[in-house]
Amino acid sequence: MKKEIVYEIFQRWQKNNPSPQTELIYSTPFELMVAVMLSAQATDISVNKATVKLFPIANTPEKILALGEEGLMGYLKTLNHFRNKSKYLLKTCELLISEHDSQIPDTREALEALPGIGRKTANVILNVAFGQPTMAVDTHIFRLGNRIGLAPGKNPLEVEENLLKQLKKIPTEFSLHAHHWLILHGRYVCKARKPMCENCLIRDLCEFKDKDKK
Ligand code: SF4
Repeated sequence: MKKEIVYEIFQRWQKNNPSPQTELIYSTPFELMVAVMLSAQATDISVNKATVKLFPIANTPEKILALGEEGLMGYLKTLNHFRNKSKYLLKTCELLISEHDSQIPDTREALEALPGIGRKTANVILNVAFGQPTMAVDTHIFRLGNRIGLAPGKNPLEVEENLLKQLKKIPTEFSLHAHHWLILHGRYVCKARKPMCENCLIRDLCEFKDKDKK
């Protein structure tokens, strides 16, 4: 996709929503990390329903550990894979205390060394908590990158690399929010089964061959 088109796409998203935010509710980097870890194969709404009860009781590594496995599972039991998520979170809290002075590390290497944190989660934390221009490729962004021709790729890593290449072509002001604009566009407009092409802000720029089908 040409540089001018990429620029135009992001400019329209920026005009439409100048400061997009993650839909996960959090107020500290630790809360963000917990919310993102819990969001694997779960909706942001379901995560928020669990954390709205958990965080007032436990929002530091020490307090989560103090809950113990059974206590923590009590807060997470409405989420998919809550047993594994509880175990990973407890191990991560132990490591945060022993190796990071109870703080969330701000490097990919250190984040990915924590149990339950993969590349995508690390990208979200680096982007949202530390303002780094990373690109966390979830199911929405993977679909979008391929469907609209912005960053085709056979797997999430290829889409991530191609998106970062595209972002290098345009002013850095777009990099910080690019991840959220893409997720929101994929979640609410360019949906998996029925993309809302007739109401799409970037319809004229999109390369999806079926965009004009009714
Ligand atoms: S025109 Fe349709 S396929 Fe293209 S970005 Fe918009 S909603 Fe998605």
